[in-house]
Amino acid sequence: MPPAAPHSPKRPQQTDLFGAEAVLTAAGAEDDGRSIARVQLEGSAMMELDYAIPDELVAKVVVGSRVTVPLQNRRANAVVLELPRESAHRGKLKEVTSIIGQRPMFTPALLKLARWMAEYYLVSPHQVLRTMLPQAVREKPGSFVMDSHLKLLKEPPPDVFEKMRGKAPMQARILDILISSKGEATLSHIRREVPRAATILPPLIKAGWISRSEVRAERDPFENEEFLPSQALTFTEEQQAAYTRVVAAIESTEAAKPILLHGITGSGKTEVYLQAIARVLERGGTALVLVPEISLTPQTIERFKARFADRSDRIAVLHSHLSDGERHDEWFKIHEDRADIVIGARSAIFAPLERLGIIIVDEEHEPSFKQDETPRYHARDLAVVRGSLEKCVVLLGTATPSLESFENATSGKYELLKLTQRTDGRTLPLIRIVDMRLERRKGTGTSVANTGILSEKLRAAVTARLEKKEQTILFLNRRGFNTSLSCIACGETVQCQDCSIPMTLHKHENRLVCHVCGSRRLPPSKCPSCQEPGLKFGGYGTERVEAVVREVFPQARIARVDTDTIQRKNQLRDLLRDFRAQKIDILIGTQMIAKGLDFPNVTLVGVLNADLALNLPDFRAAERTLQLLVQVAGRAGRGEVKGEVVVQTHAPHSPAVQFSRHNDFEGFAEQELEQRRAFHYPPYTHVVILASRGKHEARAEFALQTLHRRLLTGLPEGVIMGEPSPCALAKSHGQFRHQLLLRTPKIRPLCRHIREVMRSVTPPEDVIVTWDVDPVSLL
Ligand code: ADP
Ligand code: ZN
Repeated sequence: MPPAAPHSPKRPQQTDLFGAEAVLTAAGAEDDGRSIARVQLEGSAMMELDYAIPDELVAKVVVGSRVTVPLQNRRANAVVLELPRESAHRGKLKEVTSIIGQRPMFTPALLKLARWMAEYYLVSPHQVLRTMLPQAVREKPGSFVMDSHLKLLKEPPPDVFEKMRGKAPMQARILDILISSKGEATLSHIRREVPRAATILPPLIKAGWISRSEVRAERDPFENEEFLPSQALTFTEEQQAAYTRVVAAIESTEAAKPILLHGITGSGKTEVYLQAIARVLERGGTALVLVPEISLTPQTIERFKARFADRSDRIAVLHSHLSDGERHDEWFKIHEDRADIVIGARSAIFAPLERLGIIIVDEEHEPSFKQDETPRYHARDLAVVRGSLEKCVVLLGTATPSLESFENATSGKYELLKLTQRTDGRTLPLIRIVDMRLERRKGTGTSVANTGILSEKLRAAVTARLEKKEQTILFLNRRGFNTSLSCIACGETVQCQDCSIPMTLHKHENRLVCHVCGSRRLPPSKCPSCQEPGLKFGGYGTERVEAVVREVFPQARIARVDTDTIQRKNQLRDLLRDFRAQKIDILIGTQMIAKGLDFPNVTLVGVLNADLALNLPDFRAAERTLQLLVQVAGRAGRGEVKGEVVVQTHAPHSPAVQFSRHNDFEGFAEQELEQRRAFHYPPYTHVVILASRGKHEARAEFALQTLHRRLLTGLPEGVIMGEPSPCALAKSHGQFRHQLLLRTPKIRPLCRHIREVMRSVTPPEDVIVTWDVDPVSLL
């Protein structure tokens, strides 16, 4: 019964992580002298197999082709990894059954990237290959929607036409539409006016008036959007210097180092990207631009479409708001070489572009480039790897580099380019820090002043803006009205039944909501724990901020942006349009408004609580806070008037707050890196988190303890392994969570060790063990 597996995988997802070791064969017909394909099965972690390529497929099957192969009594999809000259099982190989698609679905570079990922992130190659193709492409490749292209061959003579108008008005109408649209139109276009067009076409075709041919209907996410062409701007000196270096790298025949473009907000990084891309295109190359999902707004895409207006149909976009059909079509557009610029979020790093000349990662510090399910890859890191595989330029841009990239740049692994000035020559906004501890002690003023939400300073600043008809953004990264409900008698906080976090009151719908699992319930009137009636709400989210702001500034026009108020895609767009048109004075919002927005009349940004990010139990808390403050501050003073930022905090002297105040990223980095080095944290080590979760706390914990014990034996030198302990979010969706943190200066030996240990350990059925190499969050 071929193929004979040396060991049958018991729990493929955990015991056979890496497959790809035994090259097995399927016994079959004689195949001496025939070509061989070594394939990875898509559906199974276990192995690479050799198959013979039948003569009729020899010309078509290449490395990267997707094929179907016989496997036991069924057929399986597989990807061709190599065409080896020899197989240990020559003479006994079964044949490849068929090929999927005309062109190889994976470029050679992407196959290499897949191998790298499998090894680095401790996942099986088949999982990586699955991840690389969008689902719609994997499952229904080539499922294009077809349309008919109709062409007017000749017009009927006037008398015939007249008769037709009387007897067959719909047929005449079709001819009229064609005449008015220069003789050509698609059936779907005509159907908008003549719904039954398909059924009444045949007589028109038969009479020889029109012809019909089948074409693909592209599901174009940009349909009906117009782009005003934009011209390349004349660079500032700094931009010119940076651009010159980037172009040197593009034109270099040597493999170039990745480039970190550290430019303050508004320093014109995007303009550098645009002109670098133009240079790449001139040389016949292609460009890949990765941006965080949240910044992949119509505005961003429009900027690219406008600059490359002459070839805007050769821009493809990949992100999570596309329909499956759109994603399928955009992917094929790239695959069939009909696109030379791809803009996308994280997963666009797998775009099957060839002749890649540049990969740009904008906002490279953003944690959202990390995928939070298996395989847990980091798209920025993959960009660097893919860049080196394809020998193309990698450009990482940001106002607040991740400390990993910054360290790579200062140590010389990356090239560092800086933009220190705004293009408009304006200075960065003035940042004022308000110590909320003092504010509370004051306790004067109106009732709302006592809530600790709006400091006097911030209130005065908003008032001044209202008087001058300038606009304000108030930022708080927390939704809801009150963020806790606790008992005065026993001190218990009402938590979600399935998650270890307090529930948030959403006043509008009068429900307590869990922000982890989304469960909802009515606020109880008595303490669920001691049954006493005295329950007290505490904390605040954007909903309460809105209420307070409305009370304090009754005359102001106020809007709130968070996932409670914005449910449809267009809602945000419309609201931001109103804000731009100055129909709104104060915009309150969560991180939905923190990024990339550019409103010239906004001269004040208030950060209501800088401590939220600061208090996260994560060694990156300070780094994240700094990034956030710099980003948010970048929203102020984009226009004529100098901006002001008011940051409310209980920790006014923390480095993140102080350094962001002076916009001193480098000062912050220096101090923070010293700490990281002293305590063996990234970028001086790699972190790996092993985590277990399950409904039974003891079993979840025990699984990790077992792993911990096994890992101790033979632990590579230099690895610092913690103890298994509950996660910061100790329970989520009814599952208890534990984790084990490992740090190491050398990642590969540790990964090999973990791989070996995982192979020998089978966790209980109801416990899930996961691992994350280079996690971006420790929660
Ligand atoms: P960043 O991406 O660094 O935040 P942008 O590229 O968005 O900065 O540039 C900020 C603003 O400055 C944009 O409105 C852009 O059109 C403008 N800009 C960029 N470069 C120049 C330049 N050389 N001259 C004039 N305006 C520029
Ligand atoms: Zn919950």
